[in-house]
Amino acid sequence: MLERLEREKQRADKANEAKSTFLANMSHEIRTPINAVMGMNEMILRESAEPATLEYAKNIQSASKTLLVIINDILDFSKIESGMMELVEEPYSLKTLLKDLWTECIARAKDKGLALTFNVPEDTPDDLFGDEVRVRQVILNILTNAIKYTMKGSVTLTVAYEKQAQGLVKLSFAVADTGIGIKQENIGRLFGKFDRVNEEQVHAIEGTGLGLSIVDKLVTLMNGTVTVESEYGKGSVFTVILQQKLNGEATVGSLKEQPEPRGEQVSAGPLFVAPNAKVLAVDDNKVNLAVIRGLLRKTKVQVTCVTSGRECLEAAAKERYDVILLDHMMPVMDGIETLEELNRMPDNRSRDAKVIVLTANAIAGVREMYLEKGFDDYLAKPIEGAALERLLVKYLPPEA
Ligand code: ADP
Repeated sequence: MLERLEREKQRADKANEAKSTFLANMSHEIRTPINAVMGMNEMILRESAEPATLEYAKNIQSASKTLLVIINDILDFSKIESGMMELVEEPYSLKTLLKDLWTECIARAKDKGLALTFNVPEDTPDDLFGDEVRVRQVILNILTNAIKYTMKGSVTLTVAYEKQAQGLVKLSFAVADTGIGIKQENIGRLFGKFDRVNEEQVHAIEGTGLGLSIVDKLVTLMNGTVTVESEYGKGSVFTVILQQKLNGEATVGSLKEQPEPRGEQVSAGPLFVAPNAKVLAVDDNKVNLAVIRGLLRKTKVQVTCVTSGRECLEAAAKERYDVILLDHMMPVMDGIETLEELNRMPDNRSRDAKVIVLTANAIAGVREMYLEKGFDDYLAKPIEGAALERLLVKYLPPEA
């Protein structure tokens, strides 16, 4: 019997491992084409002056963003299910987090004619220590739901806090809406996977029924709670309570200078212009290279494109580049091997180049993994024009 149990366990471990590999691969395989779609589409948004074309392109942008959210949800969900989700705790600013949430939500609320309000006491601690990405994800999810399931009226986020012993603070985020509400008998099902309630009302609203299940699991992982009070037909209040560590004395102060919505991004001009900067882009996928080149066109940066690790080494031996954008998953020699080789090469003229890994691998904790491997920074695909520009501004020499 013991032998049989041992065999079963090995089989289960193997299956679990296969699932992880499958996830990492799927994440990569799905994000790569979305990267191309979003990148090419961003170029249409930047370059077309044709109103009808711009309208089509905006719809493509909005649909691809939704697709990306769904893919991320499925990945997160599977990660949590297989126990692979780990919290990454770091210092962060609650004020920045709230401002970002505001920016993400205000356009959607305005589109539906809903009033969006954030009530945050000015003395709420700002300087916190915790997994910012997951805290943000949880609150964003609940805010997005509130906006999604409210046809008229308002959505209000109210933050409250209570300092506790040992440098801890208990934070409460309550999101109240005047939406469709949830029947009492359905509240228990809300957090189940793929479960949507009020089918007759919500079937026309996009959703997978995964959001709240992820919220519930993430909150549990962070030792917090999420609760719901709702009156069918009137509205709901979702309350998330989390404990975070205090990292300093600063307070969030006034959020009043809440930025106006940027709208769907069609950036007016580039963040910078650097005609003397040399960037080497390495990716085995030619469409991705075209995306990078197109996204950087207006910055006037000199972009050289190559399609393999081997060609990257040759280029670095010939020319001094300021920044190397290096894809991770490439056949023959992947990005990590290429970086190691770059560091070993005696005749590397780009020794001082900052090397940024570009990757469609979105599994949690990869950022740390890449920094540990020696990359200077990390950029996830699909690459956003604005994010790419921000990274380059950080790493290009000012004189360029
Ligand atoms: P999705 O929104 O993708 O369907 P969620 O897991 O986020 O999935 O939500 C599950 C279900 O809970 C939704 O389908 C909806 O029926 C209900 N729900 C969630 N938030 C609200 C809300 N603010 N008001 C009314 N119903 C909600």
